[in-house]
Amino acid sequence: MGKITDPIYEQVVKRNAQEPEFHQAVKEVLDSIEPALEQHPEFVEARIVERLVEPERIITFRVPWVDDKGVVQVNRGFRIQFNGAIGPYKGGLRLHPSVYDGILKFLAFEQVFKNALTGLPMGGGKGGSDFNPKGKSDGEVMRFCQAFMRELYRHIDADLDVPAGDIGVGGREIGYLFGAYRKIKNVWHGVLTGKAPEYGGSLGRPEATGYGATWFAESMLKHRGVKDGLKGKVVAISGSGNVAQYATEKVTQLGGKVITLSDSTGFIVDNDGVDKKKLEFVMHLKNVKRGRIKEYADKFKVDYYVYNEHKDIKSPWYVPGIEVALPSATQNEVDLGEAKALVKSGCLAVSEGANMPCVAHAVDLFIEKGVSFGPGKAANAGGVATSGLEMSQNSLRYSWTKVEVLDRLHKIMDNIHETCVTTAEKYGSPGNYVVGANIGGFLKVAKAMLAQGVI
Ligand code: NDP
Repeated sequence: MGKITDPIYEQVVKRNAQEPEFHQAVKEVLDSIEPALEQHPEFVEARIVERLVEPERIITFRVPWVDDKGVVQVNRGFRIQFNGAIGPYKGGLRLHPSVYDGILKFLAFEQVFKNALTGLPMGGGKGGSDFNPKGKSDGEVMRFCQAFMRELYRHIDADLDVPAGDIGVGGREIGYLFGAYRKIKNVWHGVLTGKAPEYGGSLGRPEATGYGATWFAESMLKHRGVKDGLKGKVVAISGSGNVAQYATEKVTQLGGKVITLSDSTGFIVDNDGVDKKKLEFVMHLKNVKRGRIKEYADKFKVDYYVYNEHKDIKSPWYVPGIEVALPSATQNEVDLGEAKALVKSGCLAVSEGANMPCVAHAVDLFIEKGVSFGPGKAANAGGVATSGLEMSQNSLRYSWTKVEVLDRLHKIMDNIHETCVTTAEKYGSPGNYVVGANIGGFLKVAKAMLAQGVI
């Protein structure tokens, strides 16, 4: 880090003991922003960073609900309103047994910078509960959501805090949460995003993250002088869920060839590429049938591997010949060994579709070896950007067509790329998108905080 940020980090660790995820997220940002602080003594004097690492508000509450057997269950609910300097707090709700303050603080902190990078007026927040939706009936999920909203409604509103989905919170949960809010408050406010188009949701939201991460990869390639971008490139994608599916669709539309897809059991390698018809099969398999990716290999007679079983091809990243990688499954899925394999293949660009899929050492290696590396904060910001567009449509009482939404999204992703490039250059790290994204997001929030005085 450096002499300005070192003591701040020490204080964060002391104040937030037992929260390693939060420490990691803060460290990654503080590591990058020292050059910006050297050029902006006014931020140091106003102790902007000390304020930035402290959430504005943490709300914790009891969520009692009754299960199908008539037994009362008690979960813990959270909402972290981390920073609202540039707009209403915005960030998802996560329902997962692992949820606790440290995870939500890390996610909310990240969200502050990601949202700032979109250029839309959105602050950062995150929330959720340790409730586990797996194995629960529809009725139980509905009663939990209603109980959760019976407290959360006091703390959110269209101009205050607009939650969205995250792990364990999809269309069904957003519907129950929205219904509960509307019933309690007796108003129709765009208080949640990720709604279905029938009641105020934005068209283009399902495509947004995958398309955005692909456009970001295309921009990185062009910026490094690859004139054709993704056209003719061999691309590895991991996951086969929402982000992976739409990344595959966009890569194919731009003339690239996607040769891998995965799920939590294993991965396929299709050297002919996942074309439109095969992608339709994947979408049906994953979104309707809820099947395993192995069925793709059985159907199209291609190779299928279980992780770490083959002596050389231990994961998608070890497949030879990869020119572009879009890790789009989960956190920490690209370790140092996998990063070395990608470098050896001659990989030109890595665009993070998922949140934090590359471990810190892998990121360092990509940067050292000149692989263009788009961090999730920038590369997967298309999802929250489109949520921001949903807020705008709700305020306008109007719906844009899918073409209009995706056109706006494409421009936003181009702007994020431009911000990363110009900021990294200005602060002495040309080509380093991590520095560009962290300083770019930081400057916007810091200026807004400075303008608003000590609050
Ligand atoms: P989905 O649940 O739709 O898909 C996740 C995919 O990753 C599934 O194919 C899943 O396999 C696979 N997967 C999960 N865990 C592992 C694992 N340990 N090893 C290998 N594969 C695994 O999620 P999304 O596509 O929506 O999200 C993917 C990532 O992108 C997450 O990190 C998410 O936070 C991030 N993200 C998503 C956004 C969005 O708009 N959807 C926005 C920004 C970030 P299986 O089917 O076996 O579970």
